[in-house]
Amino acid sequence: MQYISTRGKAPALGFEDTMLSGLARDGGLYVPETIPTLSTADIRAMHGLSYEEIAFRVMRPFVGDAFTDEVFADLITKAYAGFGHDARAPLVQLGNGHFLLELFHGPTLAFKDFAMQLIGQMFQEALSRSGKRVTIVGATSGDTGSAAIEAFRGLDAVDVFILYPHDRISEVQRRQMTTPTESNVHAMALDGDFDDCQARLKDMFNDFDFRDDVRLAGVNSINWGRVLAQVVYYFSSAVSLGAPDRKISYSVPTGNFGDIFAGYIAKRMGLPIDRLVVATNQNDILHRCLSTGGYVTDRVTPSISPSMDIQVSSNFERALFDAYDRDGNAVAQLMNELKAGGFHVSQGAMDVLRDHYDSGRVSEDETLATIRQAQDHMGELLCPHSAIGVAVAEAQRDPNVPMITLATAHPAKFPDAVEKASGLRPPLPDRMADLFTREERVTRVPNDLTQLETFIKDRIAS
Ligand SMILES: *Cc1c(COP(=O)(O)O)cnc(C)c1O
Repeated sequence: MQYISTRGKAPALGFEDTMLSGLARDGGLYVPETIPTLSTADIRAMHGLSYEEIAFRVMRPFVGDAFTDEVFADLITKAYAGFGHDARAPLVQLGNGHFLLELFHGPTLAFKDFAMQLIGQMFQEALSRSGKRVTIVGATSGDTGSAAIEAFRGLDAVDVFILYPHDRISEVQRRQMTTPTESNVHAMALDGDFDDCQARLKDMFNDFDFRDDVRLAGVNSINWGRVLAQVVYYFSSAVSLGAPDRKISYSVPTGNFGDIFAGYIAKRMGLPIDRLVVATNQNDILHRCLSTGGYVTDRVTPSISPSMDIQVSSNFERALFDAYDRDGNAVAQLMNELKAGGFHVSQGAMDVLRDHYDSGRVSEDETLATIRQAQDHMGELLCPHSAIGVAVAEAQRDPNVPMITLATAHPAKFPDAVEKASGLRPPLPDRMADLFTREERVTRVPNDLTQLETFIKDRIAS
């Protein structure tokens, strides 16, 4: 299995190198050269299997010869062993034909754990085999960073540096990043917003001297290994509701477009997904683009769903690559126009996008109202991100097709917003009850590439 860049210029790579490198050297994102498919019989045979067994069957064709069957199955088992629910991704019914897929039972209480825990296992296996070290640098709007730190803390072959926007993440998110005591963990509070963090990270990847010098590896949502791990729960949830003999739709709280793109991959693999609904908060570049064809950046307005506070949605490039019939030059051209503020998607490409994706936008007030209603009418306490997914699902769903909304974080990760909406303050699960008394360790850093690179070089174990 080979992976190619969305900008058409970087060399094709196998799974292991794709995963270890993150961003392609031409600035593009890696996608599989061809998407493997599963037959209806293959999908039907998943009924009754454990999450781990479904994970193996879904991901195996993408991994090629990077791991043997036995090793790969073992990595999957270890990745999900620390989850606080036996089903890993349990499905609960919200109402008639509307279900909630709870993706928040991992160690940092957000869906990012599904991918990051597996990536941690795969990095460790690949690096211990080669005897090499890597430096992981990540940018986070809150949940990626904590999930990455949790997955990589204490590993010998890895230093992990996480950039988060100073004062723009929740206290639980911050403490999950600043309280681990392992010396290979470095939390960095950047003076800027999430897009600044993401932009400086891209700059580091494009500085090839620095990139090679520190052996830079990326685990942001552009990392193909992460997208792949997220494909699994579309299969496990759809199968439990009757797929492949029934169509299912999904509503996905969206920021960087990684989670919903995993749904698109599931569909291309043969899962009968009807609609994939992109649910955004007031930072709605994706909703505007899918409505009008114009992808034009605006300022980020901080919201009560901070993990979706972005304006440049990195993984959307992968969707554009397919919508433009896999023309890397066309995508590179669009990304150049984006540097100057935005671009217009061609009519042909818009038709392809609209074939797969719908979209909706939810205001702050509607988000709070949805949390309140879900608590009052369904007895379900939602985090603000999940509430956005539920609101869009309720507004747009087809009564004849079951709808699954992805619950992307545990309500206790965003207690202020949840309390404001519902009057209830959700407690942290017991296993992390002491989070607020642990000592914090973090460095405030400027939004400046050279200073950030120096900071990192000075701290990697050599
Ligand atoms: C990361 C995140 C999202 C957005 O997911 P993308 O894959 O970036 O679209 C939504 N909700 C929560 C809680 C998240 O952590």
